[in-house]
Order: sequence, then structure tokens, then C-alpha cells
Amino acid sequence: MIGKAQILRWLENCRQAMNEQRDYLTQLDTEIGDGDHGLNMQRGFSKAAEKVATVADKDIGTVLKTVGMTLLSQVGGASGPLYGTFFIKGSQSAVGKEEVSAEELIALLKSGVEGIISRGRAKLGDKTMCDVWLPVIAELEANKNQPEVPLLESAVKKAEESVTATIPLVAKKGRASYLGERSAGHADPGATSSMLIIKALADAVK
Ligand code: ADP
Ligand code: MG
Ligand code: MG
Repeated sequence: MIGKAQILRWLENCRQAMNEQRDYLTQLDTEIGDGDHGLNMQRGFSKAAEKVATVADKDIGTVLKTVGMTLLSQVGGASGPLYGTFFIKGSQSAVGKEEVSAEELIALLKSGVEGIISRGRAKLGDKTMCDVWLPVIAELEANKNQPEVPLLESAVKKAEESVTATIPLVAKKGRASYLGERSAGHADPGATSSMLIIKALADAVK
């Protein structure tokens, strides 16, 4: 089972990772976007951590919804509403819960990703965060009977490979798509921050 303390640690790990990787995310977004992804993620997850502190005694659903609402309202650009939707949709199955099973966690992440897709309409191969989330969900579902630690470790490995796999792609969605063929040769910033979110989760469950 994954308890609320681990969910809170996940969010704290996200905050820390976005702080540490801010300049790297910014550099990636400078290459194929407008150079604000690092700041967007750092601000968003810092604000989310502040708000989470005020609801830390509530259920997992409330905690995750608070993160989503904060990202939605505090982060501009494409990524704020997309990650906001991810956490809001994901929160719905965790209302009233103090812990979730591995299977429930996978379902929660899957609903979140469905939220990203219904909002952003990206397909696999469009060089977006979905190029990490879709293979990661498939990997989690394929290994769902494994214990939590190896389950999430395999998800991190898949996420890292998936970020690398975005390098040769031509962007079809978001600002990077304005570059057309020139977007090839760079890792996608949102795919990279999604990998960090998955790594933060695995580190929280270890
Ligand atoms: P903006 O591009 O508005 O400045 P960010 O720089 O914070 O916003 O986020 C850019 C990232 O958002 C991209 O690297 C990509 O992964 C993701 N993204 C953009 N559009 C979409 C979309 N339609 N669906 C999924 N992800 C998207
Ligand atoms: Mg940007
Ligand atoms: Mg922007």
C-alpha cells in the first residue's frame, strides 16, 4: 500500500527536483520553446507545497486536488493546465482515502494522463509529456503484479528511455511545433519534467 505520508513525500520530492533541475528544464525549453519551463515547474511545485501544507491532514484526494488547483491557477503556459488537470483527474479516485494499493495508484495515474490527453489532444510521438506518460502507464500495467519498489523502478527506467526517445522527434503540439523540423535533436522539456515527477514518486515509495 502507498500511504498518505508517501504521497506527501512524492510532492515534496517533486518540489525539490524542480528546484534542482530548474536551469536544466529552462535550457531545454530555450532550445525548442520560450525558456520558461524550469521557472514554471519550480514556481508551480513550490506554490503547491505551500498549499499542501494547509491540507496535509486531509485525505489523498484532497491533497492531490489541491496540487492540481494550484498548478492550474499559478502556472501559465501549456504545462500548468496540463499538469493541473493531471492531478485533479487523478485525485478523484482517491477521495476519502488515506492509502492506495499499487493497482489504485496505477489507475489514479492513468486517469491523470487521460486528463492530459483530453485537454491537450497530443498523440504518442508528438514530442510532448505524453511521450513519457503513455509508455510509463503501459509499463506499470504490464508489471502491476510486481511489488511496489521494482514496479516503480521499472517505470522510472521507462520514463528515462522515453525522454531520450523524444530527441529525434519533430514536435506536433505546443510551442516547439512552431519550429517544425528544427525541433528535432532536442529532448522535450515537458517529457523531462514528467520523468522527474515519476522519479519523485518512485523515490517516495522506496
Ligand atoms: P509553454 O510552452 O506554454 O511555455 P511550458 O514551457 O511550461 O509551457 O511547457 C512546455 C511543455 O508542455 C512541452 O515541452 C510539452 O511537453 C508540453 N505540451 C505542450 N503542449 C502540449 C499538449 N498539447 N499536450 C501535451 N503536452 C503538451
Ligand atoms: Mg515554455
Ligand atoms: Mg511559456
